[in-house]
Amino acid sequence: MHVVPDTLALIGKTPLVRLKGPSEEAGCEIYGKCEFANPGASIKDRAALFIVRDAEERGLIRPGGTIVEGTAGNTGIGVALVANARGYKTIIVMPETQSREKMDTLRALGAELVLVPAAPYSNPGHFVHTSRRIAGETPNAIWANQFDNTANRKAHIVGTAEEIWNQMEGQVDGFTCAVGTGGTLAGVALGLKAKDERVCIALSDPHGAALYDYYAHGELHSEGSSVAEGIGQGRITGNLEGAPIDTQFRISDEEGLAWVRRLLAEEGLCLGLSSGINVAGAVRLGRHLGPGKRIVTILCDTGFRYLSTLYNPEWLQSKGLSVPIATATS
Ligand code: PMP
Repeated sequence: MHVVPDTLALIGKTPLVRLKGPSEEAGCEIYGKCEFANPGASIKDRAALFIVRDAEERGLIRPGGTIVEGTAGNTGIGVALVANARGYKTIIVMPETQSREKMDTLRALGAELVLVPAAPYSNPGHFVHTSRRIAGETPNAIWANQFDNTANRKAHIVGTAEEIWNQMEGQVDGFTCAVGTGGTLAGVALGLKAKDERVCIALSDPHGAALYDYYAHGELHSEGSSVAEGIGQGRITGNLEGAPIDTQFRISDEEGLAWVRRLLAEEGLCLGLSSGINVAGAVRLGRHLGPGKRIVTILCDTGFRYLSTLYNPEWLQSKGLSVPIATATS
């Protein structure tokens, strides 16, 4: 029989797909790691699994306990499904600006959902601080703390990077992705550099994030804004510390959105905006490294999570973003 023992064994071991349009555009071979194929439909299942396992191994959580997390949504979905499979409860704190689909998914999974107004990190009401406080006040609870808990990036050192290396048979010239917690970028960067230090690692930063300036000029500074969910960091998180970044690109929402639309129309891939930003970054990295190079990026989550936003003309108009001609309302 070809079976896996349980749901948790479905996390990771995702396929790599060659992306035709981006490869042609860059004159390189560009591959996307299909993280939407995880059971929670995003890359964050990997971090959730490693964080929960790490807490169990350290004896920090007992059966029937509660896992509390602050998240843009995908980590919450990952935590909730891992918690259900392991017999824990989940409390998720999330900014109210995130997609409706993520909220509905979390409720369907049985998570207790606490919505807070979007606020800067310096504000004590920020979702991360609220989740830490709730964890402290809840008996037999742990705080997953995905931003600074390095069990997150370990999932990508021993999982994502190892898989990419093996799938590419050791022939990978560059890797790029955007940063939410930094677990993916730092973990894959550390994992690939340990195999071959010549692999070029690039940050693809959305507008409104502070990391492009940090890696380019040593100063955390942001300008503009982005509607991309799950990415856009303003500080060096515990997971980002020591990440070996070689170069960086700043990608606009429109540039990412153009790839989201092309990948759907030309290749049948329905993705979220962080994936579009990653693919835009991979095309830039391909041009930077030169013809024929082999570049890997991350397809972070499914576009079905954004039908009410990215794929909704009224929503796009309300955010001042372009609307594809075929779906324009008036
Ligand atoms: N894209 C999406 C849609 C996400 O939810 C996240 C996680 N916040 C990321 C990208 C970034 O991943 P990481 O937290 O590993 O930096």
